[in-house]
Amino acid sequence: MIYLDHAATTPVPRAVADAMYEVLTEQFGNPSSQYPLGLEMKRRVESWRRTIAGALGCDARQLFFTSCGTEADNWAVTAACWQNRHVGRHIVTTAVEHSAVLEACRWMERQGYEVTYLAPAQDGSITAEQVLDAVRPDTALISVMLVNNELGNVYPIADIARGLAAKNPKALLHTDAVQGFLKVPFTARSLGADFLTISAHKIGGPKGIGALYIGQRVKNPKPLLAGGEQESGLRAGTEATAQIAGFAKAAELRLENLEDKLRHMARIRDYAVERLAAIPDLKVLSAPGGAPHVLSVSLVGWPSQNIVNDLGQQGICISAGSACHQGKPSHVIAALKLPKKVSGGVIRLSFGPETTAADIDACAEALQRHHDTRMPML
Ligand code: PLP
Repeated sequence: MIYLDHAATTPVPRAVADAMYEVLTEQFGNPSSQYPLGLEMKRRVESWRRTIAGALGCDARQLFFTSCGTEADNWAVTAACWQNRHVGRHIVTTAVEHSAVLEACRWMERQGYEVTYLAPAQDGSITAEQVLDAVRPDTALISVMLVNNELGNVYPIADIARGLAAKNPKALLHTDAVQGFLKVPFTARSLGADFLTISAHKIGGPKGIGALYIGQRVKNPKPLLAGGEQESGLRAGTEATAQIAGFAKAAELRLENLEDKLRHMARIRDYAVERLAAIPDLKVLSAPGGAPHVLSVSLVGWPSQNIVNDLGQQGICISAGSACHQGKPSHVIAALKLPKKVSGGVIRLSFGPETTAADIDACAEALQRHHDTRMPML
């Protein structure tokens, strides 16, 4: 199998699975239990929290485990609106956010909030000026992702945070950094966002565990789940100890020679651009300078779902930028307002440290064959 869909999820290395297995079978204590098995697990959870906080560049006390990135996104949106309920009922976000943010904003709309959805330029970019221009005195929350999951664009979060301090210092800033964590260089401090979302399964960790960074400008954050005292009483529920162990191990492994890994992924992306651009009717959509692991292209005129199915039959896993929603372009691709033939043919290749040039060659050959043997239908 050739796996070129690392933005969807990533394989779990043996060392991560082993760390989880130990927690499931031997160190299975509940961190709230008061005998040594439980106390040891409490100690370990806090040590794993420090590992992940270290990778993110924040204090461990600012990091709260959640069941996934989606949960952390939802929490950030509702907690920011709660803190700023007396500031106003306006949210600024972009039309290209993950649905975990968009749907949370739509839910706030149903509660009476007004949401500004910023449109990207045709290359997927969103500027800090554009975001700041949309901010008003009654803006409670700005939510802009760090790296777009379909295009790879990196958005200027630090510039937005700086501009916000001048324009509306009460407005809170959230960034969904699920595709940016350990893929592009940043720290929670350097970005200056008040909330930041990460998820383990994009970096070689297990599915079902994420985390939300909550900065010091957020006073008495609104709890997500009421119940026990876990996560400082903000997100009750017995800690997912094996998942947390896997998350920390994955972060630790990624951090080893991280710069080499990022360079490797960027080289693979550049090689893919070179190989794919030689295919007739293939248009590269990802703008240069994006995250190293995502490449969006269109085989103009060929429906993306057919491409994904055809390559899937040959053991090559890529994803469709369109057709995720019954043949319609995804909301991200639709927001680019590309001609129908282009948007209908969008596919995403995404890479990990394990991806090789031979994987790209095999994918390029399969795409060339698809182009030569299948009828364009768009
Ligand atoms: N945000 C972005 C940008 C993503 O790419 C994803 C996953 O695809 C999520 C949020 C959701 O993360 P999770 O799958 O952990 O809920």
